[in-house]
Amino acid sequence: MSKKWVYQFSEVGEAEKLTGSWDGARALLGGKGANLGDMTRLGVPVPPGFTVTTRGCNEFLAGGNKFPEGLWEQELAALAHIEESTGKAFGDPTRPLLVSCRSGAKFSMPGMMDTILNLGLNDKVAAGLVALTGDPRFVYDSYRRLVQMFGSVVLGVPDEVFEAVITGRRKAAGVKVDSELKASDWQEITRKFKEIIRTYTGKPFPEEPLDQLLLATEAVFRSWNGKRAVDYRNASGIRHDLGTAVNIQAMVFGNMGDDCATGVAMSRNATTGDNHLEGDFLVNAQGEDVVAGIRATQPLDELASVMPAAYAEFKAIAERLERHYRNMQDMEFTVEHGKLWVLQTRDGKRTAQAEVRIAVDMVEEGMLGKEEAVGRVKPEQVDYFLHPQFEASARKAAGKLASGLNVSPGAAVGVIAFDADTAEGWSKEGRDVIMVRPETKPDDVHGMLAARGILTSSGGRTSHAALVARQFGKPAVVGVAALAIDLDKREMTIGEQTIKEGDVISIDGTLGDVYLGALPTVIPDIDNAYLTKLLSWADEMRTLGVRANADYPADAVRARAYGAEGLGLVRTEHMFFESERLGIVQKMIMAKTPTVRAEALAALLPLQRADFEGLFRAMDGLPVIIRLIDPPLHEFLPPHDNLASDLAALKMQLQHFHTLEEMDQALGVIRQKQDHLARVTELREANPMLGTRGVRLGILIPELTRMQVRAIFEAACAVKREGVAVRPEVMIPLVSHVNELRSQKRALVEEAKLVMAEQRMEVDYHFGTMIEVPRAALIADELAAEAEFFSFGTNDLTQTAFGISRDDAEKGFLMYYLEHGILEENPFATIDAAGVGKLMEIGTQRGRAVRPDLEVGICGEHGGDPASIHLCHRYGLDYVSCSPFRVPIARLAAAHAALKYGPQLKAGAQPAASGNEAGKGVVLT
Ligand code: PEP
Ligand code: MG
Repeated sequence: MSKKWVYQFSEVGEAEKLTGSWDGARALLGGKGANLGDMTRLGVPVPPGFTVTTRGCNEFLAGGNKFPEGLWEQELAALAHIEESTGKAFGDPTRPLLVSCRSGAKFSMPGMMDTILNLGLNDKVAAGLVALTGDPRFVYDSYRRLVQMFGSVVLGVPDEVFEAVITGRRKAAGVKVDSELKASDWQEITRKFKEIIRTYTGKPFPEEPLDQLLLATEAVFRSWNGKRAVDYRNASGIRHDLGTAVNIQAMVFGNMGDDCATGVAMSRNATTGDNHLEGDFLVNAQGEDVVAGIRATQPLDELASVMPAAYAEFKAIAERLERHYRNMQDMEFTVEHGKLWVLQTRDGKRTAQAEVRIAVDMVEEGMLGKEEAVGRVKPEQVDYFLHPQFEASARKAAGKLASGLNVSPGAAVGVIAFDADTAEGWSKEGRDVIMVRPETKPDDVHGMLAARGILTSSGGRTSHAALVARQFGKPAVVGVAALAIDLDKREMTIGEQTIKEGDVISIDGTLGDVYLGALPTVIPDIDNAYLTKLLSWADEMRTLGVRANADYPADAVRARAYGAEGLGLVRTEHMFFESERLGIVQKMIMAKTPTVRAEALAALLPLQRADFEGLFRAMDGLPVIIRLIDPPLHEFLPPHDNLASDLAALKMQLQHFHTLEEMDQALGVIRQKQDHLARVTELREANPMLGTRGVRLGILIPELTRMQVRAIFEAACAVKREGVAVRPEVMIPLVSHVNELRSQKRALVEEAKLVMAEQRMEVDYHFGTMIEVPRAALIADELAAEAEFFSFGTNDLTQTAFGISRDDAEKGFLMYYLEHGILEENPFATIDAAGVGKLMEIGTQRGRAVRPDLEVGICGEHGGDPASIHLCHRYGLDYVSCSPFRVPIARLAAAHAALKYGPQLKAGAQPAASGNEAGKGVVLT
């Protein structure tokens, strides 16, 4: 007996048994075939059909494009089953059976042969069908579709040749659209199509239905090795030995009278997630008509009154399919003479808002477990709730001008500027700008930063524009092919529309769409009840803590509202840049005597104390990590070149002053600038980021450390007195040698003791260090002897591990590296696991070897990046700290990491390099 090459849809269970799993059944029958079988098994009315297996395909190809023994006979037998269950016969003009033929591999593959409809039609069958339906237009339109698809897909005739015939016929008939062509037109077109086939292939169109079926099956098999399919597999890493299956299915028609209909539906609202079956349908139409939008469709609810039985049946099926697939379904259906057929079901695409709501609702309906629900929502989808978006109704009403790639989420409205300088200039004038370029380059960055959004006509997901936009959180749409930009004329065209520089456009970086004019935006609700619930489940699952980087009380309040469990980084120097403080800071830096410096520090003390009080109050009960001053001092003074040119200009002006008072004043300014210049020159370093900064400053200016420590402890005592539970943690930046830490610790402990004695109050606090240079990670054991906690400053650690300047790289070679694949990921966005990550693992392990309860976290930008959060989980960190806006995303990503890798091993890092893929079986999509 020959092998089983053909499975009827109803035999899907056998395929599963033979292969031992559902995955095996999908491999044997292809995704499409297996799903049609699955629906059949569920009792869903699927038009009957069968699948020729992928094994059949592989044998066919291996045997020099010959059917293996028994395959064709099995196909004929399966066809007989279709005939039996439909009461129709293939090739019989009196009761014609028509079938479709579709390819279907295990993985969906757009590179392969697609679909041929209406196999089984020939001149005689067409005539019979006209007699049966009384609708020659329908019949000849169907017939020409068969000949056209068969010609192009099976026989390789270019489709344009067929399309040219239709266009010619439309012109001759004086009509604009195909639907206005009459039966006689289609009949004539069909005849012409057949002539074309004969001319191109030297053979007539096969009138014999079984020949059509045979040739179509062979063509699907051969398409597995077609160039497009091979290229697609190479590009997407699909194995070449899987083969494709062929699905043959009875055709059903929604366009054979008023008791016929066709439609599409979603089992829930795809925009809001509302649990209500929604869709569109048309009476007496075919599927294409619903999608093409030529006829106004009816909302699916109306099917309840037009065809009550079919509607009720469909509604029940939609619910059953949802329960079966445990996901919202996107379905296609046809009603043929009152009988409902479901043609397809798949997981429906939906907005972020709908995704969250559906996940939560399905848990409450008992359809999903909480872990699955949390695993299903992607971190980027949480991002949606944090960016402005266009109102869905406004988007619909406006109608998009064009689409491109949605590379950076959020909505932006502004006037068009065609270059970076214009974008920057207009933005400084207070105008909202969208910067539009064919593509962007490093010297456009200042314009991109100034713009509200970025639009380019070329470029892909890793283009410069996309990378920079994502980096800076700017909404961006790139690669809008329909956009033609004329930089000389300062205008762009999309189709017929010409848009000038200065005109207003709206871009939707979430969907990748472009609109003319200003669309209203909405700020989605971060307090959305469904999101709040989902994140509360995520919190139950994660083992990694989430803190925030915040410098101001208002940010801390927001961070807490978003779920932060403390502050992982307060950059104290940020407060120094405020205008009323900068003068005092400068005085401290310029001080020539200890007395003057002490005066300046005394003036700063109450200001810092007030900052810390605000932060402690906002974080009542939660830890607050305050980092002592970090940046090089010259950053607080004007730049050297500005001072030099200001001085030159002032000296010139001196000659033009008339009064002594004016001269005096100018001389005063000159003296101050000269002093600044002298000090800036003194502080100048060739590599300031590797110079006198971080802990080095604290060692050279111990009074500064003491002032900051005093401010922290005075603030802590003050708020503790108010009843606030205060948990300060003081952190030293850029440490590379243990003696640096010892020296700072001594000063800190002394000062803290002094303040607590003065205040007659004890405050529990922790002392810790940042790990920001490779040496610190390597001597983590020595550091842990002094420090009670570590925080990885991965911005600096990436800079120092790679030897790449974090301030310059993204303007220069790094973008080139990313665009050309020299680096796959921007190491400043996602932790470089092999290098920087390795240092983190080593640092954590060595530190905990000495101090098992060492608290370890991360406060670089990577703390808000989902992929990096997964690594932090695997390294056994205690928490990640990120900007307040990323806290909800981090909570979800940390839950995903726990679901994927299991809870953390805190005693030592998990060996991430070993792959540790043994998750708990929850599939994260
Ligand atoms: C870091 O280097 O990662 C860090 C958090 O410090 P900063 O960015 O302030 O240098
Ligand atoms: Mg740093």
